[in-house]
Amino acid sequence: MESKFSERVQRLPPSKFAEIRRLMMGRTDVIRLELGEPDFDTPQHIKEAAIQAINEGFTHYTPTEGLRELREAVARKLKRENRIEADPETEILVTDGGFGAVFAAIQSLINPGDEVLVPDPAWPRYFQNVLLAGGTPKRMFLSEENGFVPDVDGIGKQVTKKTKLVVLNTPNNPTGAVVPKSVLEEIGDLAVERDLILILDEVYERIVYEAEHFSLASHPELKNRIITVFSLSKTYAMTGWRIGYAVSHANIINAMKKVSTYANACRNSIAQKAAIAALDGPQDCVETMVKEYRRRRDLMVDRLKEMEAFSITKPKGAFYVYPRILLNVESPDFVKKLLDRAKVSVMPGTTFSMKGEKYVRFSCANSMENISKAMDGVQRVVSQFMKS
Ligand code: PMP
Repeated sequence: MESKFSERVQRLPPSKFAEIRRLMMGRTDVIRLELGEPDFDTPQHIKEAAIQAINEGFTHYTPTEGLRELREAVARKLKRENRIEADPETEILVTDGGFGAVFAAIQSLINPGDEVLVPDPAWPRYFQNVLLAGGTPKRMFLSEENGFVPDVDGIGKQVTKKTKLVVLNTPNNPTGAVVPKSVLEEIGDLAVERDLILILDEVYERIVYEAEHFSLASHPELKNRIITVFSLSKTYAMTGWRIGYAVSHANIINAMKKVSTYANACRNSIAQKAAIAALDGPQDCVETMVKEYRRRRDLMVDRLKEMEAFSITKPKGAFYVYPRILLNVESPDFVKKLLDRAKVSVMPGTTFSMKGEKYVRFSCANSMENISKAMDGVQRVVSQFMKS
């Protein structure tokens, strides 16, 4: 049977996220710190726009590229927040979340044999998307010593004649690193010098603490080399609505639009109306959520530090903490012990990295109370390791 599957699909590993989700099904006794999605509810004014759309019968197909009104709202937001000038008619594609944008970008650009540099640690979907397109993913290791910020000379050395694309993610999942403007600009120079295209995944753009998010595509001369990926999922707690968008040169967007058409025709009509309300509406809901993530991150970092069992790079963005375990145990086993003994669920670093055996990802997408309880449990498990 397996031999009947396409080689592309046979190359894909099973999803570790799906595995964890299965494992957690129906477990109400576990504090969930493995989740990569906001625990907040979508703000009320956004929900209301969707309800209104349903009541008005706005329930039909929409253009593949997204509603004109939504693309206009996106263009205003890009100008206001990212300093990116984009023509809503030709340079913006509304996608099924960041997932849809990354998929369409990689499918549009990659031929079998093309090499793509993907960060490690990172969201594993880049790697798998390159495999699905028949390309060759190459890991670009981000080191703890460098605060998990890409090393531009290192990238330069990894580029070969076959390298077509480099993927960057800032703020980064799982490390929380925010790539500084100067580093991004050096990577931009490298892209011009070596004729590379960049995918910049900025889905966590609004969730930043002691750092400023910078969009490299704000340099207009780089527009034909950069595809920037955004999403409403994290910013507005809208993961289930599946709305994201990509901005790039018109030719690239046009190619991505073709992929998007054949993949799934168009985006959900109701969710697009909600997205307009999110982008054009009041932004204090975002500030409230970010403030809360910050409190939770501070609590988690302080508690983990006290345990003296982890090396911690304080995350400057996103909502994860990615510490290195200083105990004599590797992360898949440590994660299992946390679940069995403390009823706390976290992600092993091996989900995000080839070198993740000593790292774990804790998510701050849970209440202060639960995080505090979870940290008590982690502390107990850590003490047992220290004694043994
Ligand atoms: N990029 C990164 C770095 C992510 O962590 C995620 C979701 N976990 C996404 C993109 C895609 O999210 P969505 O499709 O919900 O926008």
